[in-house]
Amino acid sequence: MANTTVENSTSASTPVAGDGLVIKDLHVSVEGQEILKGLSLSVRQGEVHALMGPNGSGKSTLVNALMGNPSYTITGGTATLNGVDITTLPPDERAKVGLFLGFQYPSAIPGVSVANFIRTALISLITPKARSEADLLDAEGRVKADSPAKPDLAAPTYVGRGGVARSNPAIKEYRKNLLATLSMLKMDSSFATRYVNDGFSGGEKKRLEVLQMAMLKPKIAMLDEPDSGLDIDAVREVAAGVNSLRGPQLGILLVTHYQRILNYIKPDVVHVMIKGRIVQSGGAELAKELEEKGYDWLRTDFMDDAETGDTEVEHGDA
Ligand code: ADP
Ligand code: MG
Repeated sequence: MANTTVENSTSASTPVAGDGLVIKDLHVSVEGQEILKGLSLSVRQGEVHALMGPNGSGKSTLVNALMGNPSYTITGGTATLNGVDITTLPPDERAKVGLFLGFQYPSAIPGVSVANFIRTALISLITPKARSEADLLDAEGRVKADSPAKPDLAAPTYVGRGGVARSNPAIKEYRKNLLATLSMLKMDSSFATRYVNDGFSGGEKKRLEVLQMAMLKPKIAMLDEPDSGLDIDAVREVAAGVNSLRGPQLGILLVTHYQRILNYIKPDVVHVMIKGRIVQSGGAELAKELEEKGYDWLRTDFMDDAETGDTEVEHGDA
C-alpha cells in the first residue's frame, strides 16, 4: 500500500477505548472536607470489581463524584472513561460517554411512569445537547423545530391520514424492548406503568436501578449498595438481574458493605476502602476473608482516629 499514509498521532501513554474507567490519585472534598485522599482504581468493560469498606469510608463519595453530583468536588487526580476525561463534564455528558450510577437511595418521582422516565433518559442519551424533555418538546408534546433530537423516539404520537393519531413506531419499538427487558429480568410488566419508586419496596427500588442499567446499556455501571436494606430473597433477585447483564461490553463497580451479595455476583477483583483510600485489593477470596475478620485488621496506624463506628448491623445504614 505505497500510497497510503498512516496517521500516527496517539502516543503509547494516551488512554484508549479498552481502558474502561481509569481513576488516578483522585481527591474529593465534600463541604470543604477532604473525603477521598488519593484513590486509584481501574475497571475495564467485561470486569466486575467489588468496592467494599466500612460505612463512612467514602464509597458513595467516589461514585457520586464520578457521576458529577455537584455536592462532591474533585480537587485532584484524574478520571477517564475510555480515554475521555469525565471530571469536567456535566452528569448527562458523563452518561453519554457510557457511565451509569445506580443509587444507594433512589428517589421517588410520583406522576412519572417508569416507561416515560426511561424513555426520557434514552432520548437524552441520543441527543447531542438537550438537558431535559422541556428542551426537546413544546407544550403540546411535539418535538421543537430546533430540537437536536431524533424526532422518532421523542415524538409521542404522529398524525396519520385523516388526522387520526397513531402510535409512533419508535415508541412501539421502545415499549416492546422495555417489556422484553422486564421479562428478561423476571420483573412484572406492571413496573412499566408504575410511578418511579413511588411506594416501591426496597427490593423493587434496587431492581428498577438494574432495569435502567439494562435499558441504557452503559459501558461502566457503578452500583451503590444494591443490597443495602434488602432481605436475602431480594438480594438474590437483584443479583440475578445484574448477572444477566454481565458480558464483555459492561464493566461493573459494585459497591457493597457486606460480603453477602458477592456470594451471588462473583467479582473479578475486590478492593477495600478505608478512610478515603484503597488499602487492599485482591480476588474474590478477599471478600470471604473480610466476612470472617471484619475490616479492623486492615486499619493501619496512619489512620489516626480509629473509630469508623462500624458494626455488623444489617439495616444500620440509614
Ligand atoms: P460510604 O458510602 O462508604 O458509607 P460516604 O461516601 O457516604 O461513605 O461518606 C464518607 C464521608 O463523607 C462521611 O464522613 C460522610 O459524612 C461524608 N459525606 C458524604 N456525602 C456527604 C454529603 N452529601 N454531605 C456531607 N457529608 C457527606
Ligand atoms: Mg454509601
